[in-house]
Amino acid sequence: MHLARFPRVRLGHMHTPLEAMPNLSKLLGGPNLFIKRDDCTGLASGGNKTRKLEFLMADALAKGADTVITQGAVQSNHARQTAAAAAKLGMKCRILLENRTGSNSVDYCNSGNVLLDHILGAPTQMYPGGADMNAAMAEVADEISASGGKPYIIVGGGSNAIGALGYVNCAIELVAQANDMGLNIHHLVHATGSAGTQAGLVAGLEGCRSLVPVLGIGVRAARPQQEESVYKLACATADLLGIPGSVAREKVVANTDYVGPGYGMPTDAMIEAINLAARYEGILLDPVYSGKGMAGLIDLIRKGHFKKSENIVFLHTGGNVGLFGYNSLFDATRPN
Ligand SMILES: *Cc1c(COP(=O)(O)O)cnc(C)c1O
Repeated sequence: MHLARFPRVRLGHMHTPLEAMPNLSKLLGGPNLFIKRDDCTGLASGGNKTRKLEFLMADALAKGADTVITQGAVQSNHARQTAAAAAKLGMKCRILLENRTGSNSVDYCNSGNVLLDHILGAPTQMYPGGADMNAAMAEVADEISASGGKPYIIVGGGSNAIGALGYVNCAIELVAQANDMGLNIHHLVHATGSAGTQAGLVAGLEGCRSLVPVLGIGVRAARPQQEESVYKLACATADLLGIPGSVAREKVVANTDYVGPGYGMPTDAMIEAINLAARYEGILLDPVYSGKGMAGLIDLIRKGHFKKSENIVFLHTGGNVGLFGYNSLFDATRPN
């Protein structure tokens, strides 16, 4: 795979570190846990969307766009990183936020990522949960065109084949790091939502013929839907890479048992996972994605899903800015 064939702008700090989590490994009694720090991609607090935006923003620039439009949940990390990327590249950014959780709390609606969207210079428009966000983006694009601008729509989560190239890049990077460290990765685990991260990883790892299995922990959809959308996008990504047919359906595995009441809705296991990662490793996870992803990993470890001798890499996809949108869940005085 030769990613240099695709237009790319450099937005992130890469390679992101691949570190051991010895304290959490010991607490849980094995397996050996490692963490790939994509929370450290560096763009206005970082996160997984930065890798996708390197390819998406390059495409927007190649097409002559001066304004990017995107959408997400109110506490969208993708929207915040898109606003930062646009600022860095001298483009305008319009953000459409869907209130999927129905929360009216001041923290949720104004702090965390929303605060940073505004500081980064991107106006936000709020929509009720269930609104047709693609239609809303098309309307905003028409308005911008009518007033002489050149809009470029970035799909929710940046999850199309171009965006997924960012996670093909991560797959190549991870395999190279593991080779250098002599680390045999038995499983790669991460939170999966709009599917671009897992699709890019699976296509990239297959392209490297790495044999590293990926497990996505779902944060929204039920398993059949989640696996189908990841599989479809992984195939489209492989087509774009020029390796069509290289992703087998059974390489796409999602576990959606840790969603709880719904997208962005808290669970006790998520709160526990955030507290454990913080208090044993000094690592900040997020309440919507990586907290639930880690909750899934911890529960599977407790249920004996992994061998004690195995090496598990958790991909930290970022998002801890979102903690400030959920601060009532975390009582600072609560002991371990
Ligand atoms: C968007 C996001 C994810 C999910 O990635 P997808 O590519 O949408 O599946 C995971 N973690 C964080 C923090 C995110 O912002």
